[in-house]
Amino acid sequence: MLTVFNIQRFSLHDGNGVRTSIFFKGCPLRCLWCNNPESIDPLPSVMFDERLCNRFGECIKAADGRIYEADGALVIDREKIGDPGQLMDVCPSKALRVAGREMSAAEIAAGVEKDLPFYDMSSGGVTLSGGEPFAQGEELGELLLLLRDKRIHVSAETSLHVPWEKVSKYTSLVDMFLADLKHTHPLKFAQYTGGDAGLVLENFRKLDASGSAFVIRVPVVPGFNHSEPEIFSIIDFAAGLEHLSEIHLIPYHSLATEKYHMLGKAYTYKGFADVSKQELVAYADYASQMGITTKILN
Ligand code: SF4
Repeated sequence: MLTVFNIQRFSLHDGNGVRTSIFFKGCPLRCLWCNNPESIDPLPSVMFDERLCNRFGECIKAADGRIYEADGALVIDREKIGDPGQLMDVCPSKALRVAGREMSAAEIAAGVEKDLPFYDMSSGGVTLSGGEPFAQGEELGELLLLLRDKRIHVSAETSLHVPWEKVSKYTSLVDMFLADLKHTHPLKFAQYTGGDAGLVLENFRKLDASGSAFVIRVPVVPGFNHSEPEIFSIIDFAAGLEHLSEIHLIPYHSLATEKYHMLGKAYTYKGFADVSKQELVAYADYASQMGITTKILN
């Protein structure tokens, strides 16, 4: 089974045309500014929005003592919840919900297929996202084969922070890789994402050698990589890749703060202003000088 936390239809921001984005649970990185904190844990996560809570108490009844009221507030003992699936649909006001459920490849493909006319009209398709799609199990291959059978264009957003074999077996089934390159310096990469820059850079070289089409996506994050030496170093690396289609620069924003709160986590990447598109123009100009088509996204 595949673990999915969201399927977003009619998405216009994750590749060409009208797309359906499938967000998978589980990520090998721990980026301090992560905008999808509900994606990180490979298991389903309990999210609670107290602004929507009507104190019906249905979750308290269903959770067998692991959700309770104290000092007028709802307390969720996430350590002891065990399988949050039991809480999936218990909250009538949707204040408490479970992010992540197991789905078969066939179930996902059947849902996606409904929008085939829109993909055809707009040169759209499906975007695999997350979390990290290539951290899913073997059933990802089944899904990709089903999409190929239906001639649906597939893009895959990836951190490339997985063993190369997890990607290489699917290169013939993915039409466009949208791969993150967050930093080239091993220490900085490790400090801010918990990962290994060497693995990512090596996977980029292998992806390039495979002949696959790919875009490099760079989240531009203040305090991490928002400086000319750091972004130029990424662009210099990109300039050496033969099959690179484009670079996409993605300005940092702090909109995910509320999601951390809903997951019972603290958002620790504080004190940084959102980055404007204007701040990225000098980076885009440098990439253009290096002969790389560049887009600044929202
Ligand atoms: S790679 Fe993406 S999903 Fe994973 S921790 Fe980093 S920002 Fe979050």
